[in-house]
Amino acid sequence: MSNRFDGKVIVITGAGSGLGQASALQVAKEGAKLSLVDLNPASLEETKSKVLKVAPNAEVLLITANVADEKSVENYVNETVEKFGKIDGFFNNAGIEGKQNLTEDFGTDEFQKVVSVNLNGVFYGLKHVLKVMREQGFGSIVNTASVGGIRGVGNQSGYSASKHGVVGLTRNSGIEYGQYGISIKAIAPGAIMTPMVEGSLKQMDPDNWEEVGKQFVEPNPMKRFGKPEEVGYLVAFLLSDQANFINAAVIPIDGGQSYKY
Ligand code: NAD
Repeated sequence: MSNRFDGKVIVITGAGSGLGQASALQVAKEGAKLSLVDLNPASLEETKSKVLKVAPNAEVLLITANVADEKSVENYVNETVEKFGKIDGFFNNAGIEGKQNLTEDFGTDEFQKVVSVNLNGVFYGLKHVLKVMREQGFGSIVNTASVGGIRGVGNQSGYSASKHGVVGLTRNSGIEYGQYGISIKAIAPGAIMTPMVEGSLKQMDPDNWEEVGKQFVEPNPMKRFGKPEEVGYLVAFLLSDQANFINAAVIPIDGGQSYKY
């Protein structure tokens, strides 16, 4: 078993479910100490018990926080540094989809809600974690964008605007902080089967969502959904020292679908 994360401290937001949980499991298997952040405390407990099954000696700090609230973000960063003394890697990942609708019907409140979590939350995370990493002189950050951050998807004004914003933040901050030994990248996942995607398919057709899912992946070159653990492998690599020279880059993980849009 590889131990790329022995002695390393990794912070993950949205760690209670889906891509955050899968990434927590992968880095924990490889020796990481974890600071796991989510809005939902019960889901954090679930992730912790899964982590301890695959990595019984893992040190795990759970922090309930809303990433859209800057004070809470500052707090999860401070709590992590108080407990572990440093932050080696940060998976800046929490996000929501929002209700699907045409732009004219999307709703101003809904737009602001999605942007406040997906874009403001990522910005606050960068702001407070980068202060720590610059002082340390090392660190790697992976922001979660989406194929919806590099291509148009439709019916997702808030999601698309926020994820394009995450790509912009990644490129901007990456060129600022490379000189301090810090690399910043984004992943752009396609459809990965997590509770978020299940919810999305149910928005399209609540009674027939599994069939909708089959049709949804038909145009994908690989004709399937991605698996959360496949994203976990990518995130672990990008957070590891092996990926230090990958900076300000956006990495799709989508079976090739974004090249077909
Ligand atoms: P998910 O719904 O399974 O998990 C998201 C987690 O984030 C949940 O545990 C939720 O409680 C938490 N969360 C939501 N709002 C929060 C907030 N304000 N503060 C703190 N935590 C909050 O979803 P997922 O599929 O794992 O998505 C994770 C990230 O990946 C999101 O940014 C999403 O946009 C992105 N993404 C997912 C897919 C996909 O197909 N699953 C594709 C592209 C991008």
